[in-house]
Amino acid sequence: MLERLTSQPPDALLALIKMYAADERPDKVDLGVGVYRTGQGDTPVFAAVKRAEQKLVDEQDSKSYLGPEGDMGFVEALMPYIFGSDATMGGRVQGMQTPGGTGAVRLAVALAQRAGIERIHMGTPSWPNHAQILSDIALEMVPFSHSKADGSADIESLLAAIKGAQPNDAVLLHGSCHNPTGIDYTPEEWAAIADAFAQTGVFPIIDLAYQGLGHGMEEDVVGLHKVLAAVPEAFVAYSCDKNFGLYRDRVGAFYAMTRTPDDLATVFSNANALARASWSMPPDHGGAVVRLVLCDPELTAVWQDELTQMRDRMRQVRARLAEAGVAGSVDLRPLADQNGLFAMLSVTPDQVKQLREEHAIYMAGSGRINIAGLHMGNIDKFIAALTAVTG
Ligand code: PMP
Repeated sequence: MLERLTSQPPDALLALIKMYAADERPDKVDLGVGVYRTGQGDTPVFAAVKRAEQKLVDEQDSKSYLGPEGDMGFVEALMPYIFGSDATMGGRVQGMQTPGGTGAVRLAVALAQRAGIERIHMGTPSWPNHAQILSDIALEMVPFSHSKADGSADIESLLAAIKGAQPNDAVLLHGSCHNPTGIDYTPEEWAAIADAFAQTGVFPIIDLAYQGLGHGMEEDVVGLHKVLAAVPEAFVAYSCDKNFGLYRDRVGAFYAMTRTPDDLATVFSNANALARASWSMPPDHGGAVVRLVLCDPELTAVWQDELTQMRDRMRQVRARLAEAGVAGSVDLRPLADQNGLFAMLSVTPDQVKQLREEHAIYMAGSGRINIAGLHMGNIDKFIAALTAVTG
């Protein structure tokens, strides 16, 4: 029977990680995998997380099951950061814990499908797993163009998608720090997006996987707030894996905003049923750690400091790249105004291969680079190699 299966293409990024590990050149540069790195090239555990983990070891008195909703203390502690001072939007927002942002996205689209959504409009390029999740649950994906060649967002294309949407359509948007382009909508563009949602009644699903890595925890939800203020209902998929550096602990949350507080019980009975049938319950450790950080003002301050350092470092790398101007045929100037871990360079797959083979610089075949893979010790080499290969 199993011979009926056909092989699936290997995950290109995982293959790149293996190739990088096998490369013995001492000056190799990893711009592939999407994790934050310090100026020394490390991805350390946050100090605030270490302290919360110690507290958890000392104080946790049971590992008995929670429920499909996970650690509600964690889910609720995040809400003021995501939704603002009225964290339940008048009793209309509730959430549950998920295995990472991936679990949250999967739950959001599966629940939307259960509620009758048939098609999801999605900007391209996007995080590749968005399309894979939609395909896996057999929801039709309707692409629109996310960005233009000059490094700005293709707002017209998004507005046309919202305005032309059919009744059972939803639109999936990145809340901030767009993966893979780093190109976010400006506050003015978000206002126009919110207006378009308000006029059409299309259902928004917002994926917020990098809050705090763009301009700040509050700044990175300005767009989300505009949309939520304009629509009666929406879903938010959240990840703490980047902004708390908890990647492998799989920390995420799914939130729904409903028309009335009374609608929440039905929505979450369905969300719980979907979670139960998929992963039953989310892993506890990372969510408990985030709860401990957010419920202790001292640890919260340590975490915010660490997040600010990450953000500032990525801004410095972006500024340095933009300062270089044009490297060969690649215009690096727009990178200064883009956000988060990623940027897309207009390089061909052949040039990506050449960068890897001749210069030991590893990046995704699409031209996506991890900004945090660069630091003052390798950035000049990178600019010189890019100039040599594309010049
Ligand atoms: N959404 C986007 C846009 C992402 O880039 C990612 C992570 N790469 C996720 C969701 C999922 O994050 P997690 O690792 O928490 O599953």
